[in-house]
Amino acid sequence: MAIKIDFRSDTVTRPTEGMLTAMMTAKVGDDVFGEDETVHKLETKLASMFNMEAGLFCPSGTMTNQIAIKCFTQPMDEVICDQTAHVYRYEGGGIAYHSMASVRLLNGERGILTPEMIEPEINEENIHYPNSSLVVLENTVNKGGGACYHLSQIEPIHTLCNIKGLKLHLDGARLFNALVATGDQARNYGQYFDGISICLSKGLGAPVGSVLLGSKETIRKATKIRKAFGGGMRQAGFLAAAGIYALDHHVERMAVDHQHAKALATALSSLNYVASVMPVETNIVIFEVAAGFKADSIVHTLAEKGIACSATGPKTIRLVTHLDISAEMIDMAIENIIHLHPSGHK
Ligand SMILES: *Cc1c(COP(=O)(O)O)cnc(C)c1O
Repeated sequence: MAIKIDFRSDTVTRPTEGMLTAMMTAKVGDDVFGEDETVHKLETKLASMFNMEAGLFCPSGTMTNQIAIKCFTQPMDEVICDQTAHVYRYEGGGIAYHSMASVRLLNGERGILTPEMIEPEINEENIHYPNSSLVVLENTVNKGGGACYHLSQIEPIHTLCNIKGLKLHLDGARLFNALVATGDQARNYGQYFDGISICLSKGLGAPVGSVLLGSKETIRKATKIRKAFGGGMRQAGFLAAAGIYALDHHVERMAVDHQHAKALATALSSLNYVASVMPVETNIVIFEVAAGFKADSIVHTLAEKGIACSATGPKTIRLVTHLDISAEMIDMAIENIIHLHPSGHK
């Protein structure tokens, strides 16, 4: 097995040489004392890009999301989100554990919610009902095959939340993929959200870290919660420097990842072992295997060819493109995918 092409996730990237240099030459200090100028620079840079007041650098996107939920809810409140939401499915039950809130799950279209879906699920004031206090959107939607919201779809959700007195948080783990795909401007996002979480370690290609954006007051509260979660870091500027470098060098190139994902999807859609491919908008390709085939065994057969991807269900497989996937790798992967003869289970 000579080739190794890793489509399992956009988190598998290694820092580039330029990024490593930026990290090694970063000016650092104790960030728990508020003395790391590189962390401060990253937080202010992202906050101003999105037209928000302040930012908070955290170890993971799970932490930025969970801190935001803790900031925007009280125990016994209810959080509204799509049933595929990362905050609900993949954060270890954190909403119950940290925030003691219940969750109302909606069935969005590939994870995309509308005000019409949300409004009937907001509880009226009644002693029987939990208090609906927060809506969480995800952009792009991971389980939705990288589906994106356009800002024009977010605006009416913001209006509804405003009228009903709910907070609105964005799990923007892959928000830059959405910006590149839709052409929406980062600076127009801040006005719609109480919190935005952005991962630096996904498509942006940094090794570690996420940033939570919000008002000064939210971030003050969030800083205390981060401390209680054990997420206060000392000379974190070495990591923040990677994030700054990524924002300066790795945003526009995401269009290449999106082209690569489309090429993979096109190749897959004509194969006998593929039933259907979700529409590709960004860097995620999810396909369903044909009747008689199992996702697990196709993933295994691909692995033998040096192509790593993941089964996301008994019949679904996910491939994610990223910074460490070159055009040559895409050609090689397509060549192998086309000539694969996985055994079926008829
Ligand atoms: C990856 C991801 C996160 C955060 O994950 P961490 O591994 O904790 O950084 C949050 N939301 C979505 C949609 C993600 O894909």
